[in-house]
Amino acid sequence: MDVNRLVLASGNEGKVREFQKLLSELGIKVIRQADLGIPVPEEPFATFLENALVKARHASSLSGLPALADDSGICVDALGGSPGVRSARFSGLASTDEANNQLLLERLRGSSNRSCHYYCVIVFVKSAEDPTPLVADARWHGEIMEGPRGSGGFGYDPIFYDPLVNKTGAEMSLVQKNVRSHRGKAMQKIISLLKESYFA
Ligand code: IMP
Repeated sequence: MDVNRLVLASGNEGKVREFQKLLSELGIKVIRQADLGIPVPEEPFATFLENALVKARHASSLSGLPALADDSGICVDALGGSPGVRSARFSGLASTDEANNQLLLERLRGSSNRSCHYYCVIVFVKSAEDPTPLVADARWHGEIMEGPRGSGGFGYDPIFYDPLVNKTGAEMSLVQKNVRSHRGKAMQKIISLLKESYFA
């Protein structure tokens, strides 16, 4: 099957640009699901993988095209992996990044175990019923700070510290973050899988 265009099941501008850049090297055109009038589906599952798969299937089923979807979040060891799949809405349905960060800092107040990791999974399906989806995942290990530092990035980046480069996610340039991050690594992996599977 020819993969020369696909639907991206994400409305996030930054992600669209990143995927567009990487996929254009394979001659694949990226179409945003919003541009096809495809609504965002529910993400009811307990795992990132299931949520990414449902998003990819939904986009493929409504467009009739191959689809790519990602799901990501932050998992904190001392909280048993929470907020995990609930990262975006940790502090409630109308969560803001600031409120989520404050809640996480409160939950960890006084805790000496501040280990955590960001997680990202990316799923590609050729069709809604594809029995062999491509799946790439990656982790970015770090620690939750005692308070925020830096003004870049988004989400939990101001309180996520990467000891290997001695910076928070919000203190890194986009280029440096893409080299270190869960999403950057998962994107590289899915590109390799696509090359192996469809462009070899
Ligand atoms: P989604 O995969 O776009 O739904 O992201 C889920 C949530 O996880 C985001 O809203 C952020 O709260 C958090 N998250 C995922 N990746 C990152 C990141 O690279 N930096 C900061 N927060 C992130």
